[in-house]
Amino acid sequence: MPAHDSYDFVIVGGGTAGCVLAARLTEDENLRVLLLEAGAADLPDAVAYPPAWPTLANSPAGWGDLTVPQRFSNAPVPLPRGRGLGGSSAINAMVFARGHHTSYDGWSNRGAKGWTYDDLLPYFQRSESAVSGAPGRGTAGPLTVGPTTRPNEILLACLDGAIEVGFPRAIDISGGLEDGFGPVDLNIVAGQRQSAADAYLTPALARPNLTVETGALAHRLLFESQRCTGVEYRVDGEIHRATATSEVVLTAGTIGSAQLLMRSGIGPETVLREAHVEVVHPLPGVGRNLHDHPRINLVHSSQRPVPTPQANHGEIIGLLRSDPHLTGPDVQIIFIDIPLPNPVAAVSNGFTIGVSPMLPVSRGSMRITSADPSAPPVLDPGYFTAAADVEVVVAGIEAAREIAASAALARWGVAEVAPGVDLTDRAMLGDYARRNFGSYCHPVGTCAMGEDAYSVVNSELRVHGVEGLRIADGSVIPVIPSANTNATVYAIAERAAELLRPS
Ligand SMILES: Cc1cc2nc3c(=O)[nH]c(=O)nc-3n(C[C@H](O)[C@H](O)[C@H](O)COP(=O)(O)OP(=O)(O)OC[C@H]3O[C@@H](n4cnc5c(N)ncnc54)[C@H](O)[C@@H]3O)c2cc1C
Repeated sequence: MPAHDSYDFVIVGGGTAGCVLAARLTEDENLRVLLLEAGAADLPDAVAYPPAWPTLANSPAGWGDLTVPQRFSNAPVPLPRGRGLGGSSAINAMVFARGHHTSYDGWSNRGAKGWTYDDLLPYFQRSESAVSGAPGRGTAGPLTVGPTTRPNEILLACLDGAIEVGFPRAIDISGGLEDGFGPVDLNIVAGQRQSAADAYLTPALARPNLTVETGALAHRLLFESQRCTGVEYRVDGEIHRATATSEVVLTAGTIGSAQLLMRSGIGPETVLREAHVEVVHPLPGVGRNLHDHPRINLVHSSQRPVPTPQANHGEIIGLLRSDPHLTGPDVQIIFIDIPLPNPVAAVSNGFTIGVSPMLPVSRGSMRITSADPSAPPVLDPGYFTAAADVEVVVAGIEAAREIAASAALARWGVAEVAPGVDLTDRAMLGDYARRNFGSYCHPVGTCAMGEDAYSVVNSELRVHGVEGLRIADGSVIPVIPSANTNATVYAIAERAAELLRPS
């Protein structure tokens, strides 16, 4: 017989959002909370060491997902996500930035009410203690965030180059109010990564009202009629059932939450039938609207030796507009202090300028193929399927090339290796971009918040059509904001905690 336990809240997924919720809900000692995490409590040592983050996606701290072959590159794309306490915040690149305030306007266009930048501001602030002390930033949150104290000289030269060619110098590029270039805040404290587990969960672990189960893969949600009553999960090969007397909250991430809904009979009917899952409630939007930031890398060699990286490799970013008439920025440029692998030639000493369309309109989807919890999901973010995204990235590449041609970088003797200076024709550059990109690792949108036919949760994060079930992670983001997504997920989870706490 499976073990059976009862809690007020059962939270599925101990990543960015799950750690916030477990910590915030158990501040109320009358609430009993179970947090289930598929991965481990103990992660590889490299998690703590900021420059090592690129090695983590294929370690035990990652799920190792790949997309289906993409339309133009005809190749699958690695789509990393974290596995273990801290989730993706334990393997990510530690950039901490809100999207530009204008980029949240798309949320209300999808019907999400009360989720503008101004509405989110108190929750952004609640999550952080920003060492910059910049206007509008939080000062008492669990995350200590600030720019690196040891910036790489090559990246400072890139920043000088950007200012030299006319881009504004942002005071606080993490704050969501500015265009321009500047050092971005990082989740690094005293030289070590600060994940959601470090900042939120670890200080709460001793609370008697919090139970954390690791190595606990949620198989399916349990329903009585249309009410979600608990979760069936496996630990060490044994099946357990936990009951939630109040609510079940999914924080299994953009892939994990949609996957679990579908395995539990909530999703598009055709997908469920093909996967031989009994329909509990048809919800056509589950898994739809998967989208992400693709990134193109302009890889440069340098005659001067590039100093050894000390932080996260990407300490300085810029936000710019591909068209000056836009109401907000739609391109991010990130300067990276290593020469990334590229399709043209290996570079031993150099750096990279990453260019990403921040408001992509390309959309894809994800689905399950079976109720088997170990079956991998079918992931198709549909990168660059919209021609508009190609136009934007080409404009971004042109801006990056202006910066690379600055006097500040000429002093380093830099030369573009990939795509290569001969590739200037816009159509050919666009073609290069569509074939040679990677995921910027910000997938969102598979359980989108809103009120249209394809929304999955309402503005209070309740799953449409069933009771006792909410989702509070990156999957509910209906339209991706113009930044790396972690800060936004922290804010969503902070707000969810407020929505869930009995008043
Ligand atoms: C390599 C990488 C680099 C990134 N770099 C940055 C960056 O520099 N800055 C930034 O802002 N963002 C970055 N991101 C994105 C950011 O980290 C994520 O948007 C954010 O962490 C998502 O939080 P989440 O709570 O939605 O999901 P996650 O943090 O992914 O948490 C989901 C958790 O649920 C668990 N889970 C899934 N399914 C189940 C199940 N069935 N049962 C139990 N547990 C389950 C997972 O193991 C995981 O721990 C990066 C992401 C990656 C992967």
